[in-house]
Order: sequence, then C-alpha cells, then structure tokens
Amino acid sequence: MVWFEVVTNPTLKMTDIEAVVALVRKKVPDALICVDNTFLTPYLHKPLDYGVDIVMHSITKYMNGHSDVLMGSLATNDEKIAEQIKFFQMALGAVPSPFDCYMVQRGLKTLAIRLREHCSNAKVVAEYLEGHPMIDKVLYPGLASYSQHGLANRLLKEYGGMVSFYVKGSGEQTRRFLKNLKIISLGFSLGGYESLAELPITMTHSQLSDEAKDAIGVTNTLVRLSVGLENPTDLSKDLDRALRAAMV
Ligand SMILES: *Cc1c(COP(=O)(O)O)cnc(C)c1O
Repeated sequence: MVWFEVVTNPTLKMTDIEAVVALVRKKVPDALICVDNTFLTPYLHKPLDYGVDIVMHSITKYMNGHSDVLMGSLATNDEKIAEQIKFFQMALGAVPSPFDCYMVQRGLKTLAIRLREHCSNAKVVAEYLEGHPMIDKVLYPGLASYSQHGLANRLLKEYGGMVSFYVKGSGEQTRRFLKNLKIISLGFSLGGYESLAELPITMTHSQLSDEAKDAIGVTNTLVRLSVGLENPTDLSKDLDRALRAAMV
C-alpha cells in the first residue's frame, strides 16, 4: 500500500499525485494507492480522477464542517475493493449512528460554499501574515512565494483553508502568541466554521521523533491555522494583536 496526502499536514508541502501514481503503477502494479484527502475535500481535489484506489476523508473536518461529529469515510471506484471494505464494516460493526449521518448530510449540502469562503479567507490571512514583520515565513499553496505554487495550480481548484507559518521569535513567544488569540481558538481539529490554531510540535505532531520533526520542518515556532468562516479582517487583527502582545 502506498499512502499519502496531496497537501500534507502540517507544513502544506504538496505531493505530485500524477507522478506518484505513474511511478507506483510502473514499479509495483498491484500496490493499493490510497490518498488522505481530508485537507482538500472533493471540492478542491478528486484523487480518484488521478487513478488512485481508495480516498480517505476525516469527515470530522471540512466534510461535516460544524465541529459536532466524529466520522471517517473511504471512497473507491473499484467494485472488488468496495466489497472488501463493506465486509469489514459489517464484520467489525464500526458504523456511524443514524443521527451522525443526518448531521453530516446536512453539513455536506453547504460544502462548496463553505470551501469557497474558507479559501478566500485563508488567502486574505496568508497574504496579511506574509507582510507582517513578526512572521518569518508563510506556507500557503496560494501564495506566489510558495515553493510548489505551480503544482498547486495544476492540481487544486483553489488553495484550501489551511495556512501554516513560522513566527519570528522564540518557542516561548510562539506559545504566548497562541494564548493571546481571542477570536481564534486553540484546537487540534480543523475544517470547521470556527478558526483554530495549534502548535504542531506539542500538539498534533508531538509523537514524531525529533529527527522526523526536523525533517519535515516542525519547529517550536511553526503554527498551523485552520481559517474559519469569520470576517478575515477580524482574523488578521486578532493575529496581529496576539503577535504584538507576545513580543513585548
Ligand atoms: C483529523 C485527521 C485525521 C483523523 O480523523 P478523525 O476524524 O479525527 O479520526 C486523519 N487525517 C487527517 C489529515 C486529519 O486532519
């Protein structure tokens, strides 16, 4: 099995899905190719169109979108794989409740408009942070400065709602910055209507070894931001105020 994300968590580095599928099909024709599409959703990118076998979503995130359900999904266009997954679902009994399914179906009805808003808000915030004197570097596929901007243009409908950035300061100042945010909450999750910021090194990615953290750029000043549906000017002001308060 080959498993990857097209926009990766938490540094938003991109994987060229066309190149990976071509390489795997040539070298290991019977390998299963699986993509975790949680950060993008089918609105921004459809991995099955690129010839992968299985697409996974954490429905908990953008797909439900309202931070009130825990659920996951697997999608495939291969009858045989679908049968096998269905067998496991039946045999193991790990099925979601009717109420959770109802909630997710409601959430999905606004997926497209929510994603458009997440993307446009994220672009405003990313551009704001890029011009901010207390920010070292912003990682966002929609910025011209992003190292894989061309790949993003090739693979994505828009650039997504996740923005990561390095604070120009110490780890202590970065933690203080997160504590000083008022509109944006601290949280592990993402993809909901509300903006959430987190410190990958001590939160979502704390279980990685120090070497692995170094290798992917998870430092004590890296912040991951899930840009919500609030007014983007309010979000930029919140970030600015918290940064200034952390640096004094
Ligand atoms: C949250 C997340 C998961 C796990 O999903 P849960 O619904 O929290 O179990 C998997 N992959 C990515 C990219 C995620 O963000």
